[in-house]
Amino acid sequence: MFYIPISRHDKVSPIYKQIYQWFQQEILSGRFSANTQLPSKRSLAETLSVSQNSVLSAYMQLHAEGYIYTAERKGYFVERLEPLSLGAPSLPAANEPAPPSARDYTYSFSHMSVDAFRFPFKQWRKAEQAAADASLDSWCDIDPPAGAERLRTAISYSVRQMRGVECRPEQIIIGASTQALLQLLVHLLGPDRSYALEDPGYQRIRLLLEKSGQRTELLPVDRHGLQTKALQNTASDTVIVTPSHQMPLGSIMPVSRRIQLLNWCYEKADRYIIEDDYDSEFRYEGDMIPALQSLDKQDRVVYMGTYSKSLLPGLRISYMVLPPALAAAFQKEGTHLIQTASSLHQQTLARFIETGEYRKHVRRMSRHYGEIRELLIHEIHQVFGSHASIQGEKSGLHFLLHVQTKDSLASILGRAAAGKLELYGIDRFMKYPDQAPPTLVIGFARLEKASLPEAVRALHRACFPSLEGSGRLT
Ligand SMILES: *Cc1c(COP(=O)(O)O)cnc(C)c1O
Repeated sequence: MFYIPISRHDKVSPIYKQIYQWFQQEILSGRFSANTQLPSKRSLAETLSVSQNSVLSAYMQLHAEGYIYTAERKGYFVERLEPLSLGAPSLPAANEPAPPSARDYTYSFSHMSVDAFRFPFKQWRKAEQAAADASLDSWCDIDPPAGAERLRTAISYSVRQMRGVECRPEQIIIGASTQALLQLLVHLLGPDRSYALEDPGYQRIRLLLEKSGQRTELLPVDRHGLQTKALQNTASDTVIVTPSHQMPLGSIMPVSRRIQLLNWCYEKADRYIIEDDYDSEFRYEGDMIPALQSLDKQDRVVYMGTYSKSLLPGLRISYMVLPPALAAAFQKEGTHLIQTASSLHQQTLARFIETGEYRKHVRRMSRHYGEIRELLIHEIHQVFGSHASIQGEKSGLHFLLHVQTKDSLASILGRAAAGKLELYGIDRFMKYPDQAPPTLVIGFARLEKASLPEAVRALHRACFPSLEGSGRLT
């Protein structure tokens, strides 16, 4: 006879189940060969000092699932089973350490983050409560494919006021991410397109397009944004741009290039411009710079907006403004689609915008980020002197820092990580990251005034370890 370990104090697993599981494992692993006879109920019950009922229940379950069969008056026997193929382990062994979470950093220079400490959770919860109270019934229905009517109406006013974008609510499509919206847009624009992208640029969009089989082409950018002249030599018919604050260079595209871009688009009937306007709510010098969409006279610009930078990335609400023809196509073709953003968050955001809280928050954060940005730039000048230069700092939540060093970007980033700094390089925005110069993408949303000098010293240590200890540089 064999030994079955039974725990009598196991509240989760009753005795019959433990017997069942033991046989199941033995049979599956092949340690019990086919047609082996199982001990009788009585003898097993006696050996294990359990009731016969427990053994019977276990045998009945094994029988019901086909692990064993019965032969009249003879007892229970093991079924003939093919060995269960174990295959290769589906996940590679975890020998790579998990990336440290944001909390593991002393200072964060992330360009993808916002200051969540200053988010007006109290006002947000008030809006959420109002939304929840308004209509319990509505939480059982799903939103129209384009998103909640009330939110689209609120956005149509807000985006006109804040970004100069003229549109009707019917042109607005809500989604849980810019990527999800872009995927939708790619379907609407139809097959056989070629997408021109900024280089360096936002790689998540390039990869999304390439991995879904779309053709892409890279166009150079400079201190005035996308080099529109390069469009003359491209085979592309759709271009994705960040004219308000080029990602990652931070360039603001001057109106001369905006006009060139639009005129290129108007030359052929099937050309489109996709404007990714991800962080331009925050502007620090002079007036708001209107979106490219506001100059478009022929309805060829698709405007992409997001609340990830102006509110919270975890909110997951983004939107696009389609030209009327594409909006009509969506209404016809998109009826099978399910809206991806949460209804409760959409209803909350609608109220948050209507009551003026959104505008108030953006204004307050512009002031706050503006102060951080100014102090940070001052501190960098103090500490780095002529060993670094700043680019693209006029708006948004990041700028570039060109470090004057023969050292590689990788070794700077390595030292930063070792020194508990969250820091990213321009390599993240390049298709061929090996060729990246020692240029850093400095996000400042997560920095605090009081610790700025120390954060900049730490940044300097990562860039110039050998100069440390020789006192402040001028
Ligand atoms: C943050 C960001 C977005 C926004 O993406 P969501 O999915 O809406 O959060 C879009 N484009 C760029 C370049 C960004 O940095």
